Amino acid sequence: MAKYIFVTGGVTSSLGKGIISASLAKLLQARGLKVTIQKFDPYINIDPGTLNPYEHGECYVTEDGAETDLDLGHYERFLNIFTSQANNVTTGRIYQTVINKEREGAYLGKTVQVIPHITDEIKRRMLLLGKEGFDIVITELGGTVGDIESLPFIEAVRQLQWELPDEDCLVVHLTLVPYLKAAKELKTKPTQHSVKLLSQEGVNPDVIVCRTERPLTPEIRRKIALFCNVKTDAVIESADASTIYEVPLNMMREKLDQICIKKLAIQNYNEPDLGRWKEFLDKLKYPKSKVNIGLIGKYIELQDAYKSILESFVHAGAVNECNVNVINIHSEFISAENVNDKLGTLDGLLVAPGFGLRGTEGKILAVKYARENGLPFLGICLGMQMSVIEFARNVLHLKDAHSTEMDSNTTHAVIDLMEEQKKITSKGGTMRLGAYPCDVKEGSRAYQVYGTTSISERHRHRWEFNNAYLSSFEENGMIASGRNPGSGLVEIIELANHPFFIGVQYHPELKSTVETPHPLFVSFVKAAKDFAEDKNASKKHTLQGEMI
Ligand code: GLN
Repeated sequence: MAKYIFVTGGVTSSLGKGIISASLAKLLQARGLKVTIQKFDPYINIDPGTLNPYEHGECYVTEDGAETDLDLGHYERFLNIFTSQANNVTTGRIYQTVINKEREGAYLGKTVQVIPHITDEIKRRMLLLGKEGFDIVITELGGTVGDIESLPFIEAVRQLQWELPDEDCLVVHLTLVPYLKAAKELKTKPTQHSVKLLSQEGVNPDVIVCRTERPLTPEIRRKIALFCNVKTDAVIESADASTIYEVPLNMMREKLDQICIKKLAIQNYNEPDLGRWKEFLDKLKYPKSKVNIGLIGKYIELQDAYKSILESFVHAGAVNECNVNVINIHSEFISAENVNDKLGTLDGLLVAPGFGLRGTEGKILAVKYARENGLPFLGICLGMQMSVIEFARNVLHLKDAHSTEMDSNTTHAVIDLMEEQKKITSKGGTMRLGAYPCDVKEGSRAYQVYGTTSISERHRHRWEFNNAYLSSFEENGMIASGRNPGSGLVEIIELANHPFFIGVQYHPELKSTVETPHPLFVSFVKAAKDFAEDKNASKKHTLQGEMI
């Protein structure tokens, strides 16, 4: 029988509910329990696949091809497990299910209402993963307590708290305890109010996790406990951390896992084994070298738009004992005149995924710079497509080569819409999504990276390399080193005469975790490290030369 932990949030958004949920899950997993996490989002979209990054940050894709909230990325990165379609549910999906059932006549003439029909569907989905052999299912509720749209979810939690045995259900509420500089004091009132709001909606939290910039004094803890109706040891301090990967250890210090184990009356658990996690953190915190890697994209101002890429660099940096300093470069502002200045100090270049015309010419210029200067390059999805276009234009001299996504009239459509996409008109969930196998060419750079000829990676795209051009690319030095075994679709391209130049149609960043850093990122960072070392060595050499 699974036990259920619900994580709600109060006071404000962006407190890091996803990280707290993932950290708690990590601690319970480290104690030998089988844990999964799911996220319930209160918006009406069926999934975040149709939302643009300005609205919602990165869209994370699971193995089974679900387009999901970026918190699922944190869950996978922390727990080293795969999530699935079932791990992310929105209001839209709940209503869609209920309305479809109504059309089928499943409600036998009853009036269909928020309570019980919508809440029943929410509860059904909340309990679903509990039937798959997990000891603990953690459910993170998106949004903030008090929002109109999160009410049915809170109501469903209330009902489950009432229906399930006491020791099978626990509610963790995350709030903010702000520090007022003028008063030189931490303030508990917002927390009191948000817990009051939650109680008015019928849910009494068992544990309060307080985000704070300053340590909570015993007095503050006692006050929160008293006014929020929890025991003092159930008031948990979550101080700002230098990296999200420190949060599980901070939560362990605060005994969050122990409190949950006690309340849930869990009998079989071990002492937490976080050896590998701590090893990773040590490497992360005490790097021996540093590289500057340019991230070329058009959502550069957004922290969350390239979340998985940034985290993959953190994992790969730790393996290489190297601090990866990611320099965000806006593709829209790269021009032929400034490209040398903008990219001249880099040790590596990553051209990001994306959609649409904006910023693509800047990306192509950046690729050209990397190709001509031997700068380690990794192109992901649209980034790979840009490297193909650059090569076609500047090496194959197909001057107007393009992707039909940007220019439907190009005479050289080196990137073209996939055949199966041509008849698709509806937008949600219709790209080529999720895991597909890929054969890697023996002897290629990609083969060196993966050490195997058969891999599987996740996708999210509609366009592909146009195989009609493949032979002229390969004759001129850009080879297809990875292809889909069934369709022949080009998954990896690389340059033969370049230290590290790889473009991938898939998204390696979606499969990098703390315990299994992605080999492509690990090798890319290593190549950047080598590039930096060579650069420093030749600088030294020139300096010595000058001295003579
Ligand atoms: N827009 C491109 C395509 O659909 C690339 C997508 C991506 O970068 N995820 O093929």
